[in-house]
Amino acid sequence: MHPIATHWLNFIDGEWVDSPVPLTVNNPGSGEPLATIAQASTADAERALQAARRCADSGELTRARPAQRVTWLLRIAEEIRAVTEEGAWVLCQENGKGLRDARDEFVEAARYFEYYAGMADKIEGTSIPLGNGYMDFTVYEPMGVSAQIVPWNFPVSICARSLAPALAAGNAVVIKSPELSPLGLCVLLQAIERAGLPRGAVNLICGQGREVGAYLVESRMADQIVFTGSVPTGQSILRAAAAYAIPSVMELGGKSAALAFADADREKLLASVKSGIFFNAGQVCSAMSRLLVQRDIYEDVVAAVVELAEGLSVGRGQDDPDLTPVISAQQLAGIQAICRQAVDEGAVVATGGEAYSDRAGHFMRPTVFRDVTPQMRIAREEVFGPVLAVIPFDSEEEAIAIANDTDFGLVAGVFTRDIDRAMRCARRLRAGQVFINEWYAGGIETPFGGVGLSGFGREKGQEALYSYVRTKNVAIRVAGE
Ligand code: NAD
Repeated sequence: MHPIATHWLNFIDGEWVDSPVPLTVNNPGSGEPLATIAQASTADAERALQAARRCADSGELTRARPAQRVTWLLRIAEEIRAVTEEGAWVLCQENGKGLRDARDEFVEAARYFEYYAGMADKIEGTSIPLGNGYMDFTVYEPMGVSAQIVPWNFPVSICARSLAPALAAGNAVVIKSPELSPLGLCVLLQAIERAGLPRGAVNLICGQGREVGAYLVESRMADQIVFTGSVPTGQSILRAAAAYAIPSVMELGGKSAALAFADADREKLLASVKSGIFFNAGQVCSAMSRLLVQRDIYEDVVAAVVELAEGLSVGRGQDDPDLTPVISAQQLAGIQAICRQAVDEGAVVATGGEAYSDRAGHFMRPTVFRDVTPQMRIAREEVFGPVLAVIPFDSEEEAIAIANDTDFGLVAGVFTRDIDRAMRCARRLRAGQVFINEWYAGGIETPFGGVGLSGFGREKGQEALYSYVRTKNVAIRVAGE
């Protein structure tokens, strides 16, 4: 256990700065206040953007050989590893997530910096033949200032996911941390500060989304917006970005389906259901929120999933239970409202369906709805809680149709022992990533992003690096040929 500072600051232009307005951060496990953080204003956002601009324009991130950025990124990874225990404790207290999972977030953050360190000196253009008399080549240039808006569910790893490739490509960055869970990011920034990057290369501000987040876009001072969060916020950012044609990466929500065929390995399926919908209390963009089950095994699978849900240990993150609280009272109320509507629309509560009334903090019962039809709201909208909708299907064709009948398209999963069927489904599922026989297979090395309302652009993997550069082509007329 680490003592947690009572007040936290923003990091702007190489300095930790306070503001006159404190923002209270609560512990979702107790519902009690945990600490305060300086709430950034639009003036703070402007200072952060200016600092990033000065850094980007100074060429300090790109002047030296790219090996310099490799060194910086590896150093950052080392420093993050050194604060993992302290950071995990802060993150688990402010976010409600399991301590082990919070630790994993810091380790994953370090891995992003190691991974993109390996690419920082390999961002190579191409030479394009145009016949004698011409030389032509492309170079990848950094965007300049990358404004990155981070959600509360995995703040540390999601921040690193965008920050590491942005720095690897030579951008300066302004990060907007989420109001509900900003403290772990302060620990991350303390680690980054020790890596000795040029002043202004990384700035962290915690402000209200509608005011300070919107300012990052509307001020026109950023060359790029990287947003991870909900669909309505993404849409509002896109509208503002459209006014100046600011390039954007959009990582939005999901309503992802797993297809469980009769021949699926039952143990693997249940292990995936457990992590797919109950990990992080279901507050995962790529959660398995729909489970489509072939009718022959529907009753068995529903019974097994109910048993699984009822057997989960529940508690505060620090004790590493199976199920942790959701982030806030408002989030809990929203989850319960969708559950009530599901019942009104004819879905049957197989277990759960409501909050724990006997626990302090924001605890939702692990919930399984059966007899869900694809038109119900519970089958169409993101719940962002530990709530699973189980839908029966008869044929492969029908399963694909139900899975694809959504505005979202983040991930999907197929559980079967039939490799041909798995491959057919992988091709036909409309999603950015398809898991076969293990939900959340993949890792920081595999490109991640959505289709439809789940967004566009890709994070993770080698591909993500190219979200953080612009291609410039240089076409040369060579005299005398
Ligand atoms: P949110 O949209 O409410 O907030 C995300 C961030 O945007 C916060 O930092 C917030 O302050 C800021 N913001 C709010 N209004 C803004 C505005 N008008 N302009 C600019 N910024 C603004 O989302 P959330 O509740 O923090 O996160 C949950 C959502 O994020 C879910 O929908 C989830 O699916 C999605 N998510 C997606 C991914 C992914 O990679 N696709 C990952 C994690 C979470």
